[in-house]
Formats: sequence, C-alpha cells, structure tokens
Amino acid sequence: MPKINILHESLVKKIAAGEVIERPASVVKELLENSLDAKADEIKIEIESAGKKKIKVSDNGVGMDEQDALLCYKSHTTSKIKQESDLFKIISFGFRGEALASIAAVSNLSITTKVEESDKGILIELEAGKLLKKEYTGCPKGTIIEIKDLFFNLPARKKYLKADNIELSHILRIVTKYALINKSVSIKLIHNKRELINSPKTESVLNNIASIFGIQITKNLLEVDYSNNNIRVKGFISKPTLTRADKTEQYLYINTRAVRNNIISDAVYNAYHTLLFINRHPIFILDTIIPPEDIDVNVHPTKNIVRLKNESLVKNEVFKAIKKTFKENNLIVETSLEQETIKKPIQHYSFPDTKQTTLAVKEKLAEYVVEKKYKENKHLGPFNILGQINKTYIIAENPHGLAVIDQHAVQERVKYERFTKELRKKVIIKQKLMKPRLIELNPIQYEITKNNNMFFENLGFSFQNFGKNTLKLTSIPEIFGKLKSTIFIDIINELLKMKVSLINKEIEERIIRFACRASVKAGDELTMPQMKKLLEELEKADNPYSCPHGRPTIINLSIADLEKKFKRSGWKD
Ligand code: ADP
Ligand code: MG
Repeated sequence: MPKINILHESLVKKIAAGEVIERPASVVKELLENSLDAKADEIKIEIESAGKKKIKVSDNGVGMDEQDALLCYKSHTTSKIKQESDLFKIISFGFRGEALASIAAVSNLSITTKVEESDKGILIELEAGKLLKKEYTGCPKGTIIEIKDLFFNLPARKKYLKADNIELSHILRIVTKYALINKSVSIKLIHNKRELINSPKTESVLNNIASIFGIQITKNLLEVDYSNNNIRVKGFISKPTLTRADKTEQYLYINTRAVRNNIISDAVYNAYHTLLFINRHPIFILDTIIPPEDIDVNVHPTKNIVRLKNESLVKNEVFKAIKKTFKENNLIVETSLEQETIKKPIQHYSFPDTKQTTLAVKEKLAEYVVEKKYKENKHLGPFNILGQINKTYIIAENPHGLAVIDQHAVQERVKYERFTKELRKKVIIKQKLMKPRLIELNPIQYEITKNNNMFFENLGFSFQNFGKNTLKLTSIPEIFGKLKSTIFIDIINELLKMKVSLINKEIEERIIRFACRASVKAGDELTMPQMKKLLEELEKADNPYSCPHGRPTIINLSIADLEKKFKRSGWKD
C-alpha cells in the first residue's frame, strides 16, 4: 500500500522553484522585474558563463530595510499586494512573492541593499535558502542581488542547461524585451565583462529601438499612438516593405509586461491584411495599455500570459489602432474586421506549414510517392511549353500528356541541388558585392552570427565585424541571386530558432533548404525562354519530382486521364 509522506520544506521549495526558475534567463527576468518594481532607473546586469556561474543585478531603486531584507527571500513574501482584492488590479510585475525564495532555494545568493532613510546598508548571504551571514555595510541606495552556482543542488536541472551560447541567447531575448519598452530606465547587460546591451534613459521608445535594432530598422517603422474606450495602443510597427520570414522580431506588451497574446497579434495581422506577402511577418514593438482591473495576470507562474476580460474589445481597438496608423501614412488597405473573413488575399505562393518534428518522415514519404509514380522507366520531357498561369504554374505538354509544373517548387529544387553539390565539392560560387553591404543586427542575432562565423563562410557569406552589432557583408552565395540583406537576416533568425549549440550536417541541410525556399521569388512572370531553361534544369535534377520540402514539382494528366474525364474512353466515334 502506498504511504503518504509529508515532504520536507527544502524539497517543497525545490519543487516550487522548478516552476519559475527554468534557466539562468528566468533568474534575470525575475530580478529585472524586481528592480523595475522598486522604481529603479538604472539597472546593471552582469553575468558570467551565460549566468551559470554568476548573475548580478544592481539597481538604484528604493532598496529594503533590514526587516524586509530578512523577509524577502522567504516563500510567499511580497510588498506588492496586501489583501485579496489587490490581486485583481495588479500594477507591479511581481505579486506572487516567490521569485526570490525560488532562486534562493537553488543557488548561493547574496543581497546588499539600502533604503534612502538609513545611513547604512545590509548584506545577507544565503546558501540554498539558508541564512549564512548578516552584516551592516556601506552602500548606495538600492539593491544588489548576486547569484552564484545556479542549480548547484539540482544536478538534474543543471545538466539540462544548454550550451552557453544558447543560454545567453535566452538572456539576451529577455533583456531586449525589457530594454526596448522601458524608455526612462537605463538597462545594461554585461557578459563575461563584455557589454552586450546598453539602452540608456531616453525620451522615446524609438531611441531604444535604434540603439538595440539599429538605424536601418528604425527608419522603416511607423509610430502607433491611439486611444479609445480606455485602451491605449502605443509603439512601432514596420512598414509593409520591412518583413521577416518569422515572428522572432515581434515584441508584444500589455501594460509594459512582455506577453504572448494571440488576440492582439491576430488583430495586428488582420490590419496588415493584404499589405503582407504570404509567409512574411512584420516587425513590431507594441504596448497595449488596459486598466489593470480588466486583465488577469495570475494565470501562469511566469506571468507571460495574461487573460483579457473583454477580448473582442481589445482586438477591435488594436485593429483600429494599426489601421489608423496605415491611413495616416497613406498606406490604405481596403478591409474591415467584419469583411476580413470574406476577402481573402490573392495567394500567389503559399507554403505548407512545416512542422520540424515530422518534417523528415513526411518528406521521405512524399518523395517516395511522387518518385514511384514517375520513375517507372519514364522521362519527364521533352516539354512543349504552352504558357504560364497565375504567375505560378507552367503548363506544358510532355510525352505523358498534360503537365502542370509548379515553378517555385522547381526553382527550389534546382537551387537546392546546385547548392548542395557546390557545398560537397567545396566550390561554393560566391558573388562579391560591388559595394559591401552594412548589416545592422540586434544583439541576439549578432552573437549567433559571430559564433558561427565559419558556418556562414562555408555557405558563401563573407563578412567582417564593423563596430556595434554591425557586419560588413562582402560576398554572398551567387545562387541566391539578388539576395537582399533581409534574407541574410532571415537565415540568421532561422538558425536562432533552431536553438542548437553546434551546427551539424542536419542543421546545415535544413538551413540550405530554408534558404533555397526563401530566395525563390513568389509570383514571378516568366518568359518562354526562362520557362524553357527552368524545365531543362529540372530534367537534369537528381530528384526532379519534388521540392526539397517534399511538395511535388509536377503533376501530369495523361491522355487516358483526360479521356476518362471527358467521358471519351470506351467510345468509338
Ligand atoms: P514579488 O516580486 O512577487 O513580490 P519576490 O520574491 O520577487 O516577490 O520579491 C519579494 C520582495 O522582495 C518584493 O515584494 C520586494 O518587496 C522585495 N524586493 C525584491 N527585489 C527587490 C529590489 N531589487 N529592490 C527592492 N525590493 C526588492
Ligand atoms: Mg518579483
């Protein structure tokens, strides 16, 4: 018969810590939020070995007196809510009173803090949540919290941590989120003595964006400033010409709290509507300010999801805010929220959603099916090209009857095979740029690119560092044609999304497939000679039957099929 045990307090704390403190970045987030809640306007984060060794956050906030300092690291201790009703109008980041207790339970932690009124500060040292030392000390007003040896007493969790560059990218992401939106706070991030983020106090969020994302992006943003029905929408969105292949450069906030929220992001996408190409995503830094009693923050331990009391109202106001911004900038899209379901954008080119986990299997299967159908002794051509439809399909006659060819799938296939062959033979054809292109990256992108210098070099991208998070791109793989700097950034973001510390053959392969797809121009009108050349290249391909992502390149309707469709088969006339 099972016996019920009462768990020891220290074990309870370790279990609870697992909820909020997953990795060094979670510690950084909690400490940063505490400093902001303490009204600091200068926050310095210093980390070593991506936070695994040390995380130190210093602020000039209100500090704590002795009594509070001795309470703050215990479970369920908070100065932010006093009574139950406060829970329904939260204006601070914290309120659960468990972050410090959780961090303390799984590390060695010290707190140095002083309030304005006191002439001396206090220093306490803890080991796994146990008080080791308490002394008075001279220090300025504010708080310094230092964490050493995170997870020293949770070996399983420690082992689960990723390589430094991955853990660092999580920290960069967190700090970037806060640094972007807190314009009146100076936020600095220093890793192994190297300054990675320096976001000074400023008048406008746009200055923060400029110092973190660079001028190129900043110049292509539109300001959103709208309020109605007690809802305010403030921030910056990219012009429809500045887009990315994914959502990694979207920053969404509710009451300056970084959140994930589909209601709001859907509203933004709906407002962009046909201004966006298929599979392209805008960049935005957008804060929606809602009365605290109209949201519920107490939904998730990490508080990055909030529940909205009136979802449709928020959706509608955000939609109108973005629309108004387009209108003011003479970018008018004819649509309204109501119409949105009826009016569909013209899809020149759409890719199926690829789910990384099942990709490999699906692909193999698709290739197999298509291959089997054709490989039974036949040739694809010769083709008698009849024309192009919807700037997407080539219509031709071949020995098997009527052929419908997806030009984008073919381009992807041809590029992919050429590229992988060049790569295998180590003869990547590079195109030297007449004028080197300066590419501003954000700190997250910069770190990963710098760390994977050789990988990019192998692919055919040559660049040098050019000061603050900027690269000087001098050559690109010739195969990508007139590759815009955005595609280079798309590749970097794709690599970031993969969250790998070491690039292996499989990752390289996935990046190449991605790049070949991203470099194919959607909805391109082709001339006869262009179509002819494309089909000749397809015929020479090792696997002409599908694109590298597994979609078919060609569909054939045989004469027999046609006769069946026209109910001719069996007729004698
Ligand atoms: P919460 O933020 O949910 O209140 P925490 O465990 O993060 O819980 O912090 C507990 C308390 O410690 C806070 O409510 C606050 O009073 C105090 N505190 C923590 N960090 C700081 C800081 N940097 N400056 C001043 N007070 C702090
Ligand atoms: Mg807190």
